[in-house]
Amino acid sequence: MRFKQDFFEQLDGFYSQVYPQGISNPHWLGWSDDAAKLIGLDKPNDDLLMQLSANAAAPGASYYAQVYSGHQFGGYTPRLGDGRSIILGEAAGPNGAWDVALKGGGPTPYSRQGDGRAVMRSAVREFLVSEALAALSVPTSRALAVIGSDLPVWRESQETAAITVRLAKSHIRFGHFEYFCYSEKGAPDKLTQLLNFTITQHFPHLTADAAGYKQWFVEVVQATAKMIAHWQAIGFAHGVMNTDNMSILGDTFDFGPFAFLDSFKEDFICNHSDHEGRYAFGQQPGVGLWNLKRLAQALTPIIPSDDLIAALNTYQPCLVSQYVSLMRAKLGLSADNDLDNSAQEKQDLALISQFTVMLENNQLDYSNSLRKMGLIDISSQHNPLRDDMLNVSEFDSWYQVYQARVGSVADVAVWQRQRNLHNPKYILRNYLAQEAIIDIEEKGDNSKLLKLQQLLTRPYDEQPEMDDFAKRPPDWGQGLIMSCSS
Ligand code: AMP
Ligand code: MG
Ligand code: MG
Repeated sequence: MRFKQDFFEQLDGFYSQVYPQGISNPHWLGWSDDAAKLIGLDKPNDDLLMQLSANAAAPGASYYAQVYSGHQFGGYTPRLGDGRSIILGEAAGPNGAWDVALKGGGPTPYSRQGDGRAVMRSAVREFLVSEALAALSVPTSRALAVIGSDLPVWRESQETAAITVRLAKSHIRFGHFEYFCYSEKGAPDKLTQLLNFTITQHFPHLTADAAGYKQWFVEVVQATAKMIAHWQAIGFAHGVMNTDNMSILGDTFDFGPFAFLDSFKEDFICNHSDHEGRYAFGQQPGVGLWNLKRLAQALTPIIPSDDLIAALNTYQPCLVSQYVSLMRAKLGLSADNDLDNSAQEKQDLALISQFTVMLENNQLDYSNSLRKMGLIDISSQHNPLRDDMLNVSEFDSWYQVYQARVGSVADVAVWQRQRNLHNPKYILRNYLAQEAIIDIEEKGDNSKLLKLQQLLTRPYDEQPEMDDFAKRPPDWGQGLIMSCSS
């Protein structure tokens, strides 16, 4: 790894230097070749294992934990910071630099009551989901590796510690701006310094001046909208959309009790601590805007309110048009048509939501139903999904409108292949992750994890020998709810 240290060198006062503490008996549980390429690495080796398990110093690394705050479940916490994640620096890659962080690398000045560790189950889940989302083209932080150990950690019971090696284009969160607005004396200078750094590093096409600031916030709003449109289209619930878990680049970030939908359910809650469903699946678009408003408030000392409000107003149309475009690809609705764009978008959105409502009413699996829809012969009245519907006449009338909207298809096989490129056959269902975790916990066997990882890097391809992994969850695996205590 070849590091540069721009954050560390340019933002003194925005972090604490802290050395990670090694985990005993480190061993690779998982390694991502795809993530490795991003920072010019090839295969894992023993030196890397020692460095990334914090048992040896990584040459060129500056170890530090960033300070930030954030709104958690609606309430402001004046100081959070990296309590269990230690950044080594920005590793150079063929297409830019990536922060390398050891998540679970030991206590930091921001650990509060926590031990600075991550348990194996949460480290494995973060590893799997980062790489799975990337393969689904959802903007996300990445995971280079997950490293197991025999270091005991105590949660509800005794477990073992692990480290996820996270790669992120940036670790700057909405909460960084909140911290330097509300919690740290010296605003607006520090706020300006942070914004200028963010623009120079991550929005190099913009200038660090008033005009650049205005456009920058538009881009943050829209990147966030697009990320959430991806979540809604793929059926992903993040689970803890606190402002400290929102990346300024619109990358999915800081995974906890996330879940992919099995059955489609608008008010699906995956987080055990989310009693009111604040972060339920269907709430995510609204929460994204709420979070952006908190960010906007923190920016008022340095960006005019009118500019902030104008940018926020682009959120909803941007999210809807990205969502409709992703869903069109899934359902085979082409965009060119006689209608003007916004009327077409409105009609398509209605068609799509009628479809998801039917899935919900019939408790049908979201991903598998879409995959099925992509395999129909559009000219034929027969649709295998029809057999899954209780209210067949409702489905029939929807299908008639849908067929008319799709129109004639020159080559059905080509059309179906196209659909398969947008409707994954394999997603990271909670029960699959759970099975992989149990094998590691009980037998020290990571083969299911590796198999799952392999599978999820090609989520759209038929892999007949892996068909079991495409099934809906068994009884025990339905509605698994994860806790935050990871
Ligand atoms: P999260 O819910 O993972 O986004 O974490 C919220 C805050 O709690 C962040 O500041 C984390 O760094 C901190 N935190 C979470 N787990 C631990 C832990 N085991 N030890 C120390 N800090 C933690
Ligand atoms: Mg967090
Ligand atoms: Mg976290």
